[in-house]
Amino acid sequence: MSLLDRLKAQIAQDGPIGVPEFFTRCLHDPRDGYYAMRPDLGAGGDFITAPLVSQMFGELIGLWVIETWTRMGRPSPFHLVEMGPGDGTLMSDLLRAGKLDAEFLAAAQVWLVEVSAPLRARQAERLGDAPRWVGRLDEVPAGAPMILVANELLDCLPARQFVRTETGWAERVIGLGEDGELAFGLRALSAQGPSTGSAGPPPPGGEESLPLGAVLESSPAQAALASDIAHRLLTDGGAALLIDYGRDVPEAGDTLQAVRGHQKVDPLTTAGLADLTVWADFPSVVAAARETGAKAGPILSQAEFLLALGIEARAQALATARPDRAEQIARQLDRLVGKAQMGALFKVACLTAPDLSPPLFEDAT
Ligand code: SAH
Repeated sequence: MSLLDRLKAQIAQDGPIGVPEFFTRCLHDPRDGYYAMRPDLGAGGDFITAPLVSQMFGELIGLWVIETWTRMGRPSPFHLVEMGPGDGTLMSDLLRAGKLDAEFLAAAQVWLVEVSAPLRARQAERLGDAPRWVGRLDEVPAGAPMILVANELLDCLPARQFVRTETGWAERVIGLGEDGELAFGLRALSAQGPSTGSAGPPPPGGEESLPLGAVLESSPAQAALASDIAHRLLTDGGAALLIDYGRDVPEAGDTLQAVRGHQKVDPLTTAGLADLTVWADFPSVVAAARETGAKAGPILSQAEFLLALGIEARAQALATARPDRAEQIARQLDRLVGKAQMGALFKVACLTAPDLSPPLFEDAT
């Protein structure tokens, strides 16, 4: 029975489910989840990410990591953690840049936090057996400082969705339509009872002025990850760099999106067959880290971050070495930093231990 059929049967029996439960089943159902069974990153696959656009992305993050490690006092050993490493390209490019500083490479203990078995296999093909794999951040042993990097991980962590109705805010749920197919519906917030987990009501601030039908998202899972990372930074020191597409100010909008073969598809008919994402909610991530006692912010655009790290000079050097590839490198540069491309939509935030000022995030509070 397909995941879609199993979800329909479950909903027919037990009633509608919230967006986070649907999202998690689609990505991680052990038999049919997208990441459990068929993650396909890359130009010929379902979606492409910044490290796959160009080696420059991982290399510049490598430079940022080396400088952060230097500002930490060059601790040895330290944990170099990547969460959601995809096919391992980012870590591979980062470690190549790390060859600039042999002591850095010798001090780094590489940990990959990955839940997907097929992607672990691809990471091992690319990176050999130097990294260690865990399924959760808390399985990385405590006791050494950490530098963590995660690109496009937050967007894999689900959000609840709230819709403004004439009678107040309701939660968006997934039930069955009259035709027996999955359909979005609404559940009054007051009818939820105490079993709805730790998420509070929709984020405050001006929502009463939003039009009927407006959608607000709130991601307890993203906030919980930020809080877990912050706890670790407080006890053991270090910094975490989170890069994703998402919002840098609180704002309304339905950002649930399913993508397959580089096309947007209907999330309700493609359960487990497509990648499913929501925007990273950087204001909540930063707030959760600060509540835990870490420093966080400011939220930069990917263009600001990569330009400040010198991506234009790196592109120039690559093009000088390979004039035959100059046009391609210029296109890749534009894809990463162009305002109409990834430069503005993608954001970068840094969470840090209170005693540390990583490059470009000296203003963190
Ligand atoms: N960082 C990579 C891949 C992004 S795709 C890149 O930029 O190319 C999302 C990655 O996060 C995949 O490796 C996926 O398996 C992983 N992932 C998804 N949900 C996760 C979770 N809950 N915990 C840890 N990793 C997760």
